[in-house]
Amino acid sequence: MPTVEILSQGDEVVTGQTVDTNAAWLSDRLTALGLTVVRHTAVGDRMGDIQDVVAAARTRVDVVVSTGGLGPTEDDLTTAAVASVYGVEPVFDPVAMAHIEALYARYGRPMPEVNRKQAVLPDGCIRLDNHWGTAPAFAMEDAHCVAFFLPGVPREMRSLFDAHVLPRISERFDLVPGRLVTLRTTGIGESNLQERIGTYQVPGVTLSYRTRLPENHIKLRFDPDVSDTHVVEEATRVAGLIGNSVFCIEGLLPAQHPLASPTGELEEVVVQLLVAGGHTVATAESCTGGRVAAKLTAVPGSSAAFLEAAVTYSNAAKVRLVGVEQSALDAHGAVSEPVAIQMAAGVRERAGTAFGLSTTGIAGPGGGSEDKPVGTVHIALATPDRVHHRKLRLGGNRSRIQSLATAAVLDLLRRHLQGVLPSSP
Ligand code: ATP
Ligand code: MG
Repeated sequence: MPTVEILSQGDEVVTGQTVDTNAAWLSDRLTALGLTVVRHTAVGDRMGDIQDVVAAARTRVDVVVSTGGLGPTEDDLTTAAVASVYGVEPVFDPVAMAHIEALYARYGRPMPEVNRKQAVLPDGCIRLDNHWGTAPAFAMEDAHCVAFFLPGVPREMRSLFDAHVLPRISERFDLVPGRLVTLRTTGIGESNLQERIGTYQVPGVTLSYRTRLPENHIKLRFDPDVSDTHVVEEATRVAGLIGNSVFCIEGLLPAQHPLASPTGELEEVVVQLLVAGGHTVATAESCTGGRVAAKLTAVPGSSAAFLEAAVTYSNAAKVRLVGVEQSALDAHGAVSEPVAIQMAAGVRERAGTAFGLSTTGIAGPGGGSEDKPVGTVHIALATPDRVHHRKLRLGGNRSRIQSLATAAVLDLLRRHLQGVLPSSP
């Protein structure tokens, strides 16, 4: 498989002011195309550093993709650096100039003189017309390596990639995209996953972990020559090792695994399962402040399943809106199993839904005590038959606790809908 290096340029990237999303996006796209990304490098706006990385990369790999440093300002040095590495002169390109002028004319603004600099490109380069901004992109091609130089602005970079980089790479190489299967999990930590899966050494398959709070993903990348049967067998085997924390498997056909459909975000899976089963849900939320309802209603088509939500933040609201008993609040406090259970059952009953969900907890930073420290959250799911309750001990700041609690209660419902919730707590 052809190898790729990705270069990111700019002081803002190396100083941490700009998160290098370009490299991540490019890696994802290039890997999916069947190339092997071997290195990411970021350099500041220094001529010598840019020259070094470009010179080194072009001798090491088949494809280089660089972003940033093509603008009109003093700190945009890419064109000059590339010209010197390739031993060519920077030359004025009238077509690029006309393009920049036309762009300014379209916006009815005079072109600042500094933009003339952007029409200077390394001699012999392939100009990649930029219809999305002023910085012209270009490529340097020789027998060993093709190097693309794209602007840093993500929107322009992505459009240029699709319009120019993709077709050129596809033409130059015989690409066979490998197959990617993603097991999406929630409610299980990365080290726990690692323990269940153990050392992974399967020929033709690469396994990697990715944390995307509140989820953890296991990615199985199969070499192009691995058979479909083996892909399904191996994905099924790994899903089996992990167990019920897997809420969907992306990259298989619906007939190939029960978790292959529905897929998507946890709330998308929940809504699709609810709609498919003709079920409805309502929520009573305290510490999550409506986040569960917001997640569910963000899913298109959720109106078929989601009926209403009550943000019962105060004790009085818990009593008045969802029928929590004052005696339960007095005896156990708002953050307790009985109150979570009464909230879920109460909202279910009042809304007339199949399911009721509830959250009550201490998101912090204040409000914790010795027996109920910050991060203590009770969640419950009321079904037509019974109420399921879980006590969580979550770590992190307020927003992390709120987002994990939101995911946990959605996951409780997901497990019930997929029939993997143990009937005894
Ligand atoms: P411009 O014509 O806008 O100056 P440029 O090619 O010179 O384009 P830069 O000046 O390096 O690009 O970056 C322009 C903007 O693009 C930055 O301010 C930043 O917001 C964004 N950007 C640059 N590099 C990256 C990156 N690696 N990841 C994400 N965003 C980036
Ligand atoms: Mg710039």
